[in-house]
Amino acid sequence: MNNSILTDLLKEYEKTRFNNITDLENRKKELYLSNPNLQEIDNKISKLSINSAKLILNNKSKNVLNNLKDDIDKLKKEKETILKKLNLSPDYLKPKYNCQICQDTGYVLENGKTTMCNCLKQKIYNIEYNQKNKNIIVNQNFNNFNINLFSDKINEKKYNSNISPRENILYIKNASLDFINNFENEKTKNLIFSGGTGLRKNISF
Ligand SMILES: [Zn+2]
Repeated sequence: MNNSILTDLLKEYEKTRFNNITDLENRKKELYLSNPNLQEIDNKISKLSINSAKLILNNKSKNVLNNLKDDIDKLKKEKETILKKLNLSPDYLKPKYNCQICQDTGYVLENGKTTMCNCLKQKIYNIEYNQKNKNIIVNQNFNNFNINLFSDKINEKKYNSNISPRENILYIKNASLDFINNFENEKTKNLIFSGGTGLRKNISF
């Protein structure tokens, strides 16, 4: 894989995260202005969460921690009720992610190891696939079509056909060009290329 593809994609992920955080901050600001009680609740939740973390670090008793957790849950419910009254989803004040799995970081932690998320793998695959396709289109088109690569000798036993490979490929070429030129005509039938790998392809309509 080309390293610059990954660097560019990770920059894109960073931008997505930044935009989503900015969106969340804007939603909060706007809602806090009209509903200052929501800001108070959020501030209380933040304080209690910090206290919980401190208690965990100091190995404090479970009872104290549970009380704090109950307080946080109560505040969260209070917040949800207010949001519901405002006809807003309970997730309205939560960050939105394009990919819930990696939360737009491109990586996930699996069995203690950091691995690439499927969303990032798919993006890399799409870019590489498109680049390969672009090269195929540039180098392999009708302008570079060389019928001399196909034998003009009929060999019924080898090709199971009473026409030469060259005659056959010319037929396929003309049928393909006809298909392209009449693509917008609704009476034009589909094209099917069939045949095993490395074997001469047949064309049918
Ligand atoms: Zn992902």
